[in-house]
Amino acid sequence: MQIQENYNLSKLNTFSISANAEFFVEAHTEADLVEIFTLPQFRNIKKVFLGGGSNVLFTKDFDGLVILNKLKGIEILKEDSKNVIVRCMGGEIWHDLVTFAVDRGLWGIENLSLIPGTVGAAPMQNIGAYGAELKDVLENVEAIDINTGKNKIFSKEECKFGYRDSIFKNDLKGKYFITAVTLKLSKVETKNITYKILQEYLERNKIEIKNSKDISDAVSRIRKSKLPDPIIIPNAGSFFKNVFVKPAELEKLKKKYPEIPFFWEEKGISPQPSPSKGEGVIKVPAGWFIEQCGWKGKRIGNVGVHDKQALVLVNFGGATGEEVLNLANKIMTAVKEKFGLGLLPEVNLI
Ligand SMILES: Cc1cc2nc3c(=O)[nH]c(=O)nc-3n(C[C@H](O)[C@H](O)[C@H](O)COP(=O)(O)OP(=O)(O)OC[C@H]3O[C@@H](n4cnc5c(N)ncnc54)[C@H](O)[C@@H]3O)c2cc1C
Repeated sequence: MQIQENYNLSKLNTFSISANAEFFVEAHTEADLVEIFTLPQFRNIKKVFLGGGSNVLFTKDFDGLVILNKLKGIEILKEDSKNVIVRCMGGEIWHDLVTFAVDRGLWGIENLSLIPGTVGAAPMQNIGAYGAELKDVLENVEAIDINTGKNKIFSKEECKFGYRDSIFKNDLKGKYFITAVTLKLSKVETKNITYKILQEYLERNKIEIKNSKDISDAVSRIRKSKLPDPIIIPNAGSFFKNVFVKPAELEKLKKKYPEIPFFWEEKGISPQPSPSKGEGVIKVPAGWFIEQCGWKGKRIGNVGVHDKQALVLVNFGGATGEEVLNLANKIMTAVKEKFGLGLLPEVNLI
């Protein structure tokens, strides 16, 4: 294990922000992590964990230790006639796990194809796409307590998953390093194609779903056509979370903006809303608010808002994290002033 000093992180975050870490180390095994967490010289130093760097913004240099997750391995723990229990180490690339599953004809994570990043970061925000979320198939999360170096297994309930949210993003932020994730995948068809964009794509292209790989391929093609590739134009996907409004709020908005897009959402909301109490179960795309404020396609210096996806902030080259943050703040202020709504960043600010 080699600890490096003053390490440049530009190749380790999809925003391509050129921030430096005071110290940097790659963890290849759980023993590496225990050693890092118990080394006296690093006990009281700030630490941040990094997977694929696809959901972080380094707002400045990091005066602490960056630990890159390189824990590898996928294994089938057990199976019966219906299900397969798969344990995957946190440093594996998420889409490689999807490929592992669909190549074996397993169902459960095909809608989450091509989400960038590692398996270890997936529980952080309960990754979700095309009508599915990690929590739908998660059995447990293994993690190491950074203060004691001890292992803990979190059940699904203990993870407190919500929409792009979990206990690891809140009460336990930075306190546990996720080492492995165990999923329950299905041998029996559980196809989930109700998500409008996916359904329309399948109909338009006359695709008949025969196995989970067909869905994975369709989702991958849709994603490639819709989202800017960070290799070509650096970004971290959706910068903001979508917005949930109460039915009464939606009615008010509809009067002024009859064309407002909205979706009834039952999944991923924590705590579970109660429609009978008029609680919000309606999702309005955050990108719509940004577009209404005139920010879509706008550029300020090295940063800007993508011209096709208003939710995606981009680095046109040479941007600092501070520039991206300033742009995000300007957008949040504009949405607050026009709609009285507070946008929340989905990206982790470091
Ligand atoms: C083009 C693009 C499209 C995207 N589309 C989606 C999408 O459809 N749905 C979706 O949910 N997300 C999406 N994302 C966001 C991102 O892919 C996910 O959040 C992903 O899970 C991040 O993984 P990562 O390894 O890159 O995490 P990183 O960016 O490295 O880290 C993210 C956060 O998790 C923490 N973390 C990382 N590893 C660990 C660990 N082992 N233990 C504890 N904490 C850890 C980090 O400290 C940080 O706070 C997209 C991003 C991009 C760039």
